[in-house]
Amino acid sequence: MRIAEIKNKKTKEEQDKFEECIKYLISYIGDDPNRSGLLETPKRVRKMYEEIFAGYEITKTKNFDIKMFEECDGLVKLKIKNVYSCCEHHMLPFFGEVLITYRSKNKKVIGLSKIPRLVHDISHKLQLQERMTEEIAQTLFDLMNPEWIEVLFKCEKHLCVSMRGAKSEMETESFVRIDKDGVHHKYE
Ligand SMILES: [Zn+2]
Repeated sequence: MRIAEIKNKKTKEEQDKFEECIKYLISYIGDDPNRSGLLETPKRVRKMYEEIFAGYEITKTKNFDIKMFEECDGLVKLKIKNVYSCCEHHMLPFFGEVLITYRSKNKKVIGLSKIPRLVHDISHKLQLQERMTEEIAQTLFDLMNPEWIEVLFKCEKHLCVSMRGAKSEMETESFVRIDKDGVHHKYE
């Protein structure tokens, strides 16, 4: 549904232009965009981009598909696995799991299934691990107005580190806590 929204916003001319860029990229790296195995690649890449970068519109308009419930106040803890995003420096994926803990206030909680959706919307843009962690925490804080919220994003892999440059394995963590006193990062 969201992918279709992006697709519908692009004209045929814009789509063709994107595919031309991918053709150029293929020849730039030394391959032949006209060989049979690559003929459909520009179109496939365009469709993939429409999917993996589908988060811009929804995060800009803050039109999240969220339902609030009246429950008792308490501590909620959840872990969202297989979270993927792309680093804004190299446009390569980084991925891991996001742990969210919050203490609700005024009995306001979000339907559990909606939180992974929101995390995926925020991750479907060019991101940095630290900014994404803060964006998840801030968005949920604004929507729920909890006592406090903590978000820990454990990245098990940054492909721009393992595929290029240092070519090493690295696990990284970023942590944000938001409460009535503001935003706090782990290493401050
Ligand atoms: Zn990178």
